[in-house]
Amino acid sequence: MKVIIVGGGIGGLAAAVAFHRRGWQVEVLERAPEFTEVGAALSIQPNGLRALDVLGLGDVLRAAGPADPPPGIRSRSGRWLIRNDVDDLRRRFGLWVTVHRADVIELLRAAVPAEALRPGVDVREVRPEGTVRHSDGTSTADLVVGADGLRSVTRRSVWPQAPEPRYVGYTTWRLIAPVQPVDGIVETWGSGERFGYLPMADGRVYCYMFASAPAGSRGGLDDLRMRFARWHEPIPTLLSSAHHDAVLQHDSYELPNLRGYVSGRVAILGDAAHAMAPNLGQGACQALEDAVTLADAVDRLGVPAGLAAYDRARRPRTQQVVRLSRQVGAPAHWRSTALATLRDAALPLVPGSLVGRSIGSVYAWTA
Ligand SMILES: Cc1cc2nc3c(=O)[nH]c(=O)nc-3n(C[C@H](O)[C@H](O)[C@H](O)COP(=O)(O)OP(=O)(O)OC[C@H]3O[C@@H](n4cnc5c(N)ncnc54)[C@H](O)[C@@H]3O)c2cc1C
Repeated sequence: MKVIIVGGGIGGLAAAVAFHRRGWQVEVLERAPEFTEVGAALSIQPNGLRALDVLGLGDVLRAAGPADPPPGIRSRSGRWLIRNDVDDLRRRFGLWVTVHRADVIELLRAAVPAEALRPGVDVREVRPEGTVRHSDGTSTADLVVGADGLRSVTRRSVWPQAPEPRYVGYTTWRLIAPVQPVDGIVETWGSGERFGYLPMADGRVYCYMFASAPAGSRGGLDDLRMRFARWHEPIPTLLSSAHHDAVLQHDSYELPNLRGYVSGRVAILGDAAHAMAPNLGQGACQALEDAVTLADAVDRLGVPAGLAAYDRARRPRTQQVVRLSRQVGAPAHWRSTALATLRDAALPLVPGSLVGRSIGSVYAWTA
């Protein structure tokens, strides 16, 4: 049996590993000239690590960069607004890790035979019967997996009526600051602005920032230094130590719910199926869950029944995570000072265990 995978990001490569381990012939078509990721670091949460366990790769990441579960949220002065019970989260769900994206891609890429990987191939059209038209000709397979991200050509080819991604109202910046002593993971909320930092295993610090802004607004490191100058330490110090060329900016998009993730011999996964605002740090984790679920279902049940089972298993769950991610981010982007003051007064009254419980089902996934 042969599978063509469109896109060699985290979701596509994870699917490639999953099918290869089940003895399928795999062909990964990636438009970029090589398999890598520039996008700073990311957090792989317990459910994402459990999906990687299915591929035999979870422990490599656990050993490379264990981190604490998120301890909570601070105000811009540094006061705790929400305090999670970190020990309880760790006991119930396991480890979180913060790793460079390029390291995750490399880990997955190395688990796929080199001859299966076709960089520099731009996919133009995917047909439900399993044909893919691309810059190098045409390929066919028993199954085509569209793992080609937010602007998926697979989704647009097979579901031309599907809704387009919508801008969620805030832009994001990411950077990796040089080695700094920081007190674990922190996310800090202002009014329409957020700053998060996560220490990496090598002592560098992954930082992300959000700001409410019209789509397409651009700002560099100098703007960020001004924007966050009066926030609690070490935020200004992290920004002053960063390099201008380390900053990546992307607007945040969410894909409205699709009616199906499968059609004919085609399935979509990851951001192609359910791009979400990056408020929970779950986009890649969900893509990993998709990949192992899809390979398992199709390999066990055959293509039509396996695809139906994949859709039944993954659509409700991922659409729930998209919704939760939207809800979690909303109060951070209230721009009215009165509302933000109210929020900052109310949040410390919410028990940490309650917060952990509300997203517990996201972390608790097992294969
Ligand atoms: C600021 C920010 C922070 C985030 N933090 C986290 C986090 O901490 N944890 C987490 O789990 N998630 C996080 N995410 C989400 C995560 O980055 C994405 O959900 C994840 O990368 C999606 O993976 P994917 O493989 O589905 O798509 P992508 O990573 O977009 O990969 C798609 C691939 O397909 C290729 N491609 C596209 N079109 C074609 C074509 N026509 N032909 C051939 N190839 C094509 C692209 O070049 C790309 O390599 C974050 C996102 C943002 C924006």
